[in-house]
Amino acid sequence: MSFSNLGLSEKVLAAVAATGYTNPTPIQEQAIPHVLARKDVLGIAQTGTGKTAAFVLPMLTILEKGRARARMPRTLILEPTRELAAQVKENFDRYGAGQKLNVALLIGGVSFGDQDAKLMRGVDVLIATPGRLLDHTERGGLLLTGVELLVIDEADRMLDMGFIPDIERICKLVPFTRQTLFFTATMPPEIRRITEAFLHNPQKVEVSKPATTAVTVTQSQVPAGREAHEKRELLRRLLREAKDLKNAIIFCNRKREVAIVHKSLQKHGFSVGALHGDMDQPARMAALDQFRKGELPLLVASDVAARGLDIPEVSHVFNFDVPHHPDDYVHRIGRTGRAGRTGTAISIVTPLDQKSMAAIEKLIGQNIPRAEGEFEVHSESAEPGERSREPRGRERSRGGRAKSRRGHEQRGDSRHASDARPAAEARPAREPKPSREPKPAREARHAAEPRHGSRQQANTSHVPSIGRPEPRRPQREADSEPGDHSHLPAFLLRPVRSPAGA
Ligand code: AMP
Repeated sequence: MSFSNLGLSEKVLAAVAATGYTNPTPIQEQAIPHVLARKDVLGIAQTGTGKTAAFVLPMLTILEKGRARARMPRTLILEPTRELAAQVKENFDRYGAGQKLNVALLIGGVSFGDQDAKLMRGVDVLIATPGRLLDHTERGGLLLTGVELLVIDEADRMLDMGFIPDIERICKLVPFTRQTLFFTATMPPEIRRITEAFLHNPQKVEVSKPATTAVTVTQSQVPAGREAHEKRELLRRLLREAKDLKNAIIFCNRKREVAIVHKSLQKHGFSVGALHGDMDQPARMAALDQFRKGELPLLVASDVAARGLDIPEVSHVFNFDVPHHPDDYVHRIGRTGRAGRTGTAISIVTPLDQKSMAAIEKLIGQNIPRAEGEFEVHSESAEPGERSREPRGRERSRGGRAKSRRGHEQRGDSRHASDARPAAEARPAREPKPSREPKPAREARHAAEPRHGSRQQANTSHVPSIGRPEPRRPQREADSEPGDHSHLPAFLLRPVRSPAGA
């Protein structure tokens, strides 16, 4: 099947050819003819399947005829997050380059005045998050009675985020006779109810089972102690040791944790951005942009901020926290291994996460192998400069947490004792403590700021790969017997360099 058999206009076919796509993806092949036939569509598809173009391309074809009127958009696309909305706009810009369409974005964090002026000029495609859209309708600056086509994208995510009442309100503001395209990755009962209420005789298009993970993603779980500082230490080790790591998204369950992990990684010299719901829009876009361009190879993110983002070629996904909802695991690791590429997903698993991991394994129908012992947590200086002073010949155990705990006690490291004082107190160097945790707003500023400061450069000097843009140096130069590193963790076998000025 080629694009030319789907009924798309010449202009749209030319735009598709210009992007280099040769064949439609299954969701495009199935959905596009229905959209062009002006039928309602229920698309069950995850991001990464090409579902955005499945509605953007036929919409562009439909919109070639007709003109927009002031304050009355012709089509409306609802997205759960600002980033997704911006991403859909990019699709219109790309495929609609040959058309003179007015495409407007109504998202939070951007001035009302500019958005209002755009609405006044007449809009062919309005892409909006539900809250901001309703703000505009309530102010009287926007009429939805001219909407001929409504797209509800990522509906299950809307449900997770509590947007369903808003969606119901919006559906009542657009004409009953509109065409509706509805996309969701899963079909929980509440979503089924909505589809029954707002779709008319929809054509159902399903491209992959919800909750399957790509076979190209190598998954593993690494046991960790339950203390946050142990997890951060392990994360650093995993980042330094990861094979073929080009870039990575590190997922945390809470915004607060995103801020802490981001700050901690920065302190340790990693080039890292952050993405979470409390950041203002320019900071979120800047972080995402820097990550996309490879200027920041690491991104610490929450689920809400990262859901559905199209970031091609992410080599690694780390679950700093195991997600509470198994569905989120599938979405997170779906950030890597996209479009048939290979990827790696590593989850840091504490004893408290066993139940969540079992639920994930049940959902995806496979066991996630454990990388036992290889990445045990050991005492590491909190500040990069102290790394070189660390004793290198100490006995390291291989047997996971129990032995690791003994190792710490032998070294007089009190962190693992039940009444242990926080790591930051046990060591003079500074690990971010909850009491000094950065405010999300501050994090947002950090995420937006280019990291060219001298402190940053000094800090990055010891980091083998992701702290600096140049390619990784070969790993394990000191390993005289490649492959036989079972008696020692790999990081011990590498020469340690002191950062400049340490
Ligand atoms: P989506 O599911 O919409 O997030 O799309 C995932 C990725 O697939 C995006 O990077 C698109 O640019 C890309 N894509 C969309 N359609 C095609 C196609 N027909 N062939 C190859 N890649 C595509």
